Amino acid sequence: MKIETKLLCCRACGLMMQNNIPDFTVKCPRCLVVVSKKHHKLYYELILAIAAFLCYFPAMYLPILSFQLGSQVQEGNMLFALKYFFNGGYEILGVIVFFTTIFTPLLYIIAAIFMYGALYENRKPVLMKLYFKVLHDLREWVMLDIYVVSVLVSIIKLEEMADVIYGPGIIMLTVLAALNFLLVNAFSPKHIWDTYHNAK
Ligand SMILES: [Zn+2]
Repeated sequence: MKIETKLLCCRACGLMMQNNIPDFTVKCPRCLVVVSKKHHKLYYELILAIAAFLCYFPAMYLPILSFQLGSQVQEGNMLFALKYFFNGGYEILGVIVFFTTIFTPLLYIIAAIFMYGALYENRKPVLMKLYFKVLHDLREWVMLDIYVVSVLVSIIKLEEMADVIYGPGIIMLTVLAALNFLLVNAFSPKHIWDTYHNAK
């Protein structure tokens, strides 16, 4: 049996190495960065994208917290927060929050489902370039994790002034942020284009 030897270069430290076991995860012996990934059929990315899509709407609509200030009980979800920004004169902040935590994550998840779904079924996606551009260009604009941390910090601050009850929205939002984080990190252009060129 003929063994094909491939020459690989580590993108982190530039070390050249030989690889004669194809379709296997190869780590750089010097800096331990993954140089070549085992070729699975992108199902991990597809599952992450579908799970994120299922969490998205509950995370947006379910109440994140409710708090009692005097005799008034106030309940708030993601959309309530946005309304608060616009009504309170924080329009620019409202636009930034809308773009980074509501619009971009949804667009990212939908593009990921269409692209990974087609590649998983061994098809070439019709709008491949558009999907790839969305996944490549918007990955730094998905900021749900930062938003979750800032919400938690403000809840802790708020606890000093009022009785705060955590809503199911905060759990869904945290799960969504974690799934999005994993989805963004799983993005591998080389693997995607290899699968694309091997698809029918
Ligand atoms: Zn290296």
